Amino acid sequence: MNESLKQYIVLTLFPEMFPGPLASSITGRALDQNHVGIEAINIRDFTTDKHRVVDDTPYGGGSGMVMKPEPLSAALAAARAKLPEGSPSILMTPQGEPFSQARAHELAQAPGLLFVCGRYEGIDERIRQTFDLELSVGDYVLSGGELPAMLMMDAIIRLLPGVLGNPESLSEESFQRHRLEYPQYTRPAQFQEGEVPAVLLSGNHAKIRRWRRKESLRRTLQRRPDLLKQYPPDKEEQELLRELQAEEEAKS
Ligand code: SAH
Repeated sequence: MNESLKQYIVLTLFPEMFPGPLASSITGRALDQNHVGIEAINIRDFTTDKHRVVDDTPYGGGSGMVMKPEPLSAALAAARAKLPEGSPSILMTPQGEPFSQARAHELAQAPGLLFVCGRYEGIDERIRQTFDLELSVGDYVLSGGELPAMLMMDAIIRLLPGVLGNPESLSEESFQRHRLEYPQYTRPAQFQEGEVPAVLLSGNHAKIRRWRRKESLRRTLQRRPDLLKQYPPDKEEQELLRELQAEEEAKS
């Protein structure tokens, strides 16, 4: 057997959910070609009681169930022992740091990753300090951490060297330089009402590059002005911004 380049382990109560959608398309190819191996481990296998209980009622009362610390702790120890040194353990939680492209890049460097998926009302607080990282996929509550783990794995795996056919497509896309991507077109040149912007058919690469940067900026300005505030425009972008402003003034 070919050894996988990266080793990802998921602790879950629903191991049958993996690899799930990750088996298709780009991530599926990455799995087939052993760029990465994903192993889902059932937390329930680390229970020691007859009924294999993984949850219990919360101290202090209230609704819902909490994942018991002992099986999870034993599962964590087993998973950590399997992973190479320098593999961060990550708890999926809506209380975590918002997952981002920057985080995806950082995690793509690690030799292994350990994803821990909560269910019910989440995990016993005392287990939390053993994680290297707590990550959230957004300000909404899902019923479990499995989809967040898959989402993060997808974003990370496509960044692994050799996974994307054309690594250049990575340097252009949204968030790579803290901007949304410019509009994309493909054949036919005429489609229903719309035409492809003439500059893209011109073959003038300098012009195309500049147009793309400008449209990327226009889009970011319209949809995500917060990104411009957080990551201020460089010299060329400042010039492009002035052009965009002039266009707006000409319109009104
Ligand atoms: N009561 C908890 C939420 C429990 S949701 C709270 O308010 O914090 C059940 C599990 O789903 C969580 O343990 C977590 O693993 C996962 N989950 C739910 N929403 C998530 C999100 N936005 N990001 C990451 N994981 C999430």
